[in-house]
Amino acid sequence: MSESCIFCKIVRGDIPVKKTLETEHAIVFPDLNAVAPVHHLVIPKQHIASVDEMSEADRTVMGDVLWAAREAARNLGVSEDGYRLVANTNRAAGQEVFHLHFHLLAGRDFRWPPG
Ligand code: 5GP
Ligand code: ZN
Repeated sequence: MSESCIFCKIVRGDIPVKKTLETEHAIVFPDLNAVAPVHHLVIPKQHIASVDEMSEADRTVMGDVLWAAREAARNLGVSEDGYRLVANTNRAAGQEVFHLHFHLLAGRDFRWPPG
């Protein structure tokens, strides 16, 4: 847990969110600033700053985080059409919140390569 981390505050319940889904190690909630018709954030409950900051011990937790993304996508009804999972990591990727998260994006067609 990090005192000042905004996503740790969400995990603690200090900032209320409408949880889309919760698993043992992960929570899913809507992004405040949606860039697609469906835009949720999938985060580990424990504070891991980024994919790059994962430790070996986090591998099990991150399996559950990925599972939460899969379950959320199914519950949201976007699995068949398709969705994109994005984990911006460090500066060049535009990471702004340094608590590891996957963006779960769906509801429109996405371009490749990304901008
Ligand atoms: P990043 O740029 O780090 O990959 O993405 C951070 C995301 O967190 C952004 O899409 C932003 O809208 C979202 N975000 C930042 N603060 C909050 C918040 O307090 N609540 C929610 N639900 N989303 C947030
Ligand atoms: Zn955190």
